[in-house]
Amino acid sequence: MKMKAAFLVGREKFEVREVDVPRCGPGEVLVRVKACAVCGTDLRIFRGEKRIDVPITGHEISGIVEEMGEGVDGLSVGDKVVIKTVIGCGECDACRRGEENRCRRKYKAMGYQYNGGFAQFILVPREAVRQGCVIKVPENVSFEEATIVEPFSCVINGWYPFRKREPGFTTAVLGAGIIGMLHVEYAKLKGSKVILINRTSPRLILAKKIGSSADEFIDASQYDPVKKVKELTGGLGADVVICAASSKDIQREAIEMAAVDADISFFAGLPKDDSNVLLDSNIIHYNELHIHGANASNRSQYLEALDLIASGKVNVKKFITHKFPLEKLAEAMRCLEDRSMNAIKIIVDPWM
Ligand SMILES: [Zn+2]
Ligand SMILES: [Zn+2]
Repeated sequence: MKMKAAFLVGREKFEVREVDVPRCGPGEVLVRVKACAVCGTDLRIFRGEKRIDVPITGHEISGIVEEMGEGVDGLSVGDKVVIKTVIGCGECDACRRGEENRCRRKYKAMGYQYNGGFAQFILVPREAVRQGCVIKVPENVSFEEATIVEPFSCVINGWYPFRKREPGFTTAVLGAGIIGMLHVEYAKLKGSKVILINRTSPRLILAKKIGSSADEFIDASQYDPVKKVKELTGGLGADVVICAASSKDIQREAIEMAAVDADISFFAGLPKDDSNVLLDSNIIHYNELHIHGANASNRSQYLEALDLIASGKVNVKKFITHKFPLEKLAEAMRCLEDRSMNAIKIIVDPWM
């Protein structure tokens, strides 16, 4: 049997090839990809800014179980599923606690060390299957919505250190991309008032148009975001600040707009070769700020994301703005990059 797959053959170049469908060995699962969303990391891979070990990328994947190797339990052919990206070693203390994104032996990932979802079929390796990376999706969740489980699970992971905040706090989210917008939804769920900040106004207009749950929107090209957040919080600052865009300025602003005892998430990373930031550490010291990192997600966070989507507590349908066939993957990447396209989440359908 043959399938179509998008091979990354060079900088900003994909080639759709007809190749053999991978054979399903013992313990492995073959999934028919129904949707694979394009994410900012895919864009960096496309531009040659990030290297992967395989020719096929894409890690926000939903599909149907097509075939199962010997010895696979808990799944059936025909199941609607999402594929969890991170595969831990399964043996270290972090993995044994169910924190495979904190694996001491450096985790592997679908779409990075194993071929990803920009293909008609994807083979899930044995260690991934064994660790529960193939997760069943309720029937009422569409394949498109199911791709959002991956980025949403990462957002939930970002909130882990301050997940127990009592309702009534204020959250400032810096950056109105899909990640920022998912943070807004999760903050609302936690009973927070939410301020969404972005450097350009069209993005905020788009956020309002699609029905973002933010209470306030600040256009940082018009207003000083630190001043505005202080104004909106009676001079106190925000209790939770999320840096949801790759920017040093945002990290500096986050510290300045934070209330005493605030939690700050450096959710978005900075470019690999340009990640030294000058911060006024006295603000951290005197205001007793807590700065947190965030990287990927674990299985229980996938399940939480899936549950919030399936139960209708979070509507992610509104974020899906574009759909492309596999042949137009490069175009999809450019669409994500081009702010005038107003893309939030772009889905690639390999059967389109
Ligand atoms: Zn992603
Ligand atoms: Zn491990």
